[in-house]
Amino acid sequence: AKERGGDRIECFTATLSQNSLERQELEQCLRDALRNGELQMYYQPQFFMDGRLAGAEALLRWNHPLLGPVPPVKFIPLAEENRLILPIGEWALRESCRQMALWQASTPDPLLLAVNVSALQFAHGDWDTCVVKALEDSGLAAERLELELTESLVMRQGHEDVEPLHRLREIGTRIAIDDFGTGYSSLGYLQRLPITTLKLDQTFIAALQAEPPEMSSEHIVRAVIQLAHSLKLTVVAEGVETEGQRDMLELLGCDCLQGFLLGRPLPADGFEALLESVATR
Ligand code: C2E
Ligand code: CA
Ligand code: CA
Ligand code: CA
Repeated sequence: AKERGGDRIECFTATLSQNSLERQELEQCLRDALRNGELQMYYQPQFFMDGRLAGAEALLRWNHPLLGPVPPVKFIPLAEENRLILPIGEWALRESCRQMALWQASTPDPLLLAVNVSALQFAHGDWDTCVVKALEDSGLAAERLELELTESLVMRQGHEDVEPLHRLREIGTRIAIDDFGTGYSSLGYLQRLPITTLKLDQTFIAALQAEPPEMSSEHIVRAVIQLAHSLKLTVVAEGVETEGQRDMLELLGCDCLQGFLLGRPLPADGFEALLESVATR
């Protein structure tokens, strides 16, 4: 796509049709993926500031036999467009609850399981029933589950649509706002909705240690943490990659850390090994 003029247009058209062909193929493959057991849950550890393991965020992985690993940024938007995210999201929830309940049974310390919820699942009438059922069937305590919703998703909902959120919060389920700071600027929903956790978006964390240092992002992180704490919310920093970022976040009073510095997303057996190493420390 580096060519100029006519070449560039031709190249662009070719890319377009190549993309739509790829899309159609990918869509067909994704339909089979769930049935064929090609989807897998990975677990990225979250830690308290003192280094104790707090829990894990469950992240979908798709390994296609021919295409190889397909990244979530590629297949999740597609799954949202064709509504496959409904069965896929339900599977992800049930599978990760099942797994965490097993781990919890052999671990004395309470662990939190964070699960991503897409806008379509949220808009689906009986999604809270679905969550309750996943908890009941797995035996995972409601307080151990944290549902991650994005700001834009939450802001888009009418007042009736957030009823399920209140019902889930009432039974003890935790509710996190994912990618906090990147969506709508209205903060009213923090008062209106039963939120327990803010996940500070990676872009703010990355900017904390940027060269030259971005002072503004330090101020934003500081202000978000103060706001969160005054509302009695927990703050999780995402995308922590350097010691410098961790030190800064500790100084600013952040509660939990998640990122490559502390641990990459791991398949179930990898996370289990981590659990064992933590238990025998
Ligand atoms: P997210 O919910 O914001 O998840 C965090 C993403 O950041 C993950 O990417 C994770 O691997 C990545 N990450 C974690 N630590 C670091 C770090 O230190 N540096 C950098 N650069 N990245 C880090 P992943 O797994 O590729 O997922 C991408 C997005 O796909 C997720 O963003 C989420 O929006 C979506 N997603 C993943 N799994 C699910 C799922 O089960 N359901 C739904 N609805 N969406 C999912
Ligand atoms: Ca998330
Ligand atoms: Ca996020
Ligand atoms: Ca994100």
